[in-house]
Parts: sequence; C-alpha cells; structure tokens
Amino acid sequence: MSAFEYSRLNNDYITYNELINCFNWDILGYSSEERPILSAELGTGDKSICIWAGMHGNETTGLHIILELVEMFHKKQLDLKGYTLYIIPIINPDAYIRNTRRNGMGVDMNRDFRSFQTVESAKLIGWIKMIDPVLCFNLHDQRTIFHVLTHAAYTSLLVPSSDPERTLTPIRRGLMNQIGNALASMDISLEGIGRYTDEFYPTAVGDYLMTQNIPNVLIESGVSSGDMQRAYAREFSVDFIRAMLFSSQDHCDLYDLLPLNEQGQLEWVFTDVLYAHMRVDVAVKRVVAMNGHQKAEIYVVDDIGDLSSRPRLYEIIGSAMGISDVLTVDRPVTGIFGTVVFEQGQLVIGNLPE
Ligand SMILES: [Zn+2]
Repeated sequence: MSAFEYSRLNNDYITYNELINCFNWDILGYSSEERPILSAELGTGDKSICIWAGMHGNETTGLHIILELVEMFHKKQLDLKGYTLYIIPIINPDAYIRNTRRNGMGVDMNRDFRSFQTVESAKLIGWIKMIDPVLCFNLHDQRTIFHVLTHAAYTSLLVPSSDPERTLTPIRRGLMNQIGNALASMDISLEGIGRYTDEFYPTAVGDYLMTQNIPNVLIESGVSSGDMQRAYAREFSVDFIRAMLFSSQDHCDLYDLLPLNEQGQLEWVFTDVLYAHMRVDVAVKRVVAMNGHQKAEIYVVDDIGDLSSRPRLYEIIGSAMGISDVLTVDRPVTGIFGTVVFEQGQLVIGNLPE
C-alpha cells in the first residue's frame, strides 16, 4: 500500500490499466463489458461515507479527487475523524476508456436510478445500501457553460431534492447546514462557487438516494479562467470533503446564499472579426475525443454574431483578423484569427490562453 503514489499519475490521462495497477483495490463487480469496477475502504471508523466518481466517463476530475484523498490517507495526512471512507474511483469504466458519457450499452447511468437496468447503477446502489452511509459524495464535472454571476463556476454544489415539491426535509436542511459550516471553516472566497438547481430528477442517483433517506451531496467540478484543466476545482473538493468531516449540522445559511449557477458561458471569444463582409464575434470551444488511449482535442465553432451579452472565459480582440473559410456552428473551425490559425479544428499556429 505504501507504494501508492498518486502524484506519479498526476499528469494527463490515467489509463484504466494504470488505475487498476496503482493500488490494491477490491473488485466490487464487473461492468457490462466485463471491466472490473474497483473499490476501496479507508479507515476503520464507525460512521461510513461513500464517495464515487466516473459515472460519466468523460468527467475525470472526480477520479483525481479520490486518488488525492487515497494518497493523503496513506501518507497519514488525512484525519478521518472516526469515519470510514468507502470509495469507487470509476463506477462506469466502459465509458471512461472511451471518454464518453454513456455506459457500454449506450445508456446514461444517471437516468437509470428508477429502473436499474444497467449493471453499473445496480452495483452502485447495492454497494451504497450495504454500507448504509451517513453521507455520500457524488462527483461529476460540469460543462464549461456554467457561470455564477460574472464568474466561471469552478465548482457547483447540490443537496438534491427528494420530491417534485423540493421539500426541505430534515436530512436536506441538515446537509445544507453542514455544507455551510464546512465552507465557513475553509476560510476561502466563495466567488465562483455555485449552487446547482434542486429541481427533482427522479432518475438521477442523488435524487433517488434522497427518496431513500440517504444523505448525499453532488459536487460538480468546473473550469475557471486560467484553469481549463479543473485543477482549482480539484483542490477545492479535496479540502471541502475534508472540511465536511469536521463540520456540524448546526444552523448555517452559507449554502443557501450561494448563487444558483447559470448557463451560457463561452470558452474563447474572438471579438470584432471581419467575416463575410461583417464584423462579428466568433466563439470557439474545445471538444475532446478518444483516439486509442490518447485524448484528441478539436476546436469547433460555438457561436457567431453579436456575443457581447454572453460571459466568456477568454476574450481575444480580433479587429485585425480576417476569415475566409465558412464557419458553421458545431463544426471544426478553420481560419486565421490574427496570430492564431486553426485548420480543420486543429490549432496549427499560435496558442490560446488556458
Ligand atoms: Zn456527470
């Protein structure tokens, strides 16, 4: 166990085989394509906490959050305060190896927590119910479109609802208090932390668990300006989960005061671009696809026109820029944007701020 060195894996993409071999995992079961679903237990406390990640295979920050917690535990840097942490680093391995949202059978697991048709959702629920935790963390990544006020939402939190009326049950209120106390104890600026909508989604895991009176918190890791790799979100979540272990459920309304996140944020916006006899803004976004074991990045057109009302992560003034190729939304971008040149979605000259 002492050989576990997450930092060794801390770069780029961790292959599933690397993950399997980096730690003495238990095998909880097998995915629809017969990949092992890994799990582990940290500590020996009486109260149990479940943490899982990788329900959507193209959302990888949660894996890094979990591996960081495992490494801290083995370096004796994590005081579990009488809890045992039960973890699943990737609940949907078939999706992880393809960098897709859906499982090996093409089903979105997080829409399957009413009928439990996928082996992965059934395994996850069986595991949680067997452990009977006092708290769960459900780790996801949110898309780059989310912002809070004028800031990128680098993390969004949610205490899910247990019914369509979004009743404030004692379990929900207690968790909201605990989150508020945890945030207060972290002594950080809350700018860029959002609250996810608590509209009731009966097929999503968090909402289902709430109907079963199993307390759970959704953490959605996002990007921020200067951090497209979500490193800041990852550090926040590690600290937040630790702070939750120490926090009481005494009344605190800090969670309630977090702004609801909103959609519409753009990634890179070139402003005032000369295109087809018009002066327009052109938004470009990055899409990731798997090419074997390599992640391949491609830049596509996100929007064209007067985008001045939309928040953006990066703005590049392009009054001297000209584009002769046709731009089509959701298609790979080709064009000369001043010092930046794209060809068929590839950045061939210049750099974009990250
Ligand atoms: Zn997700």
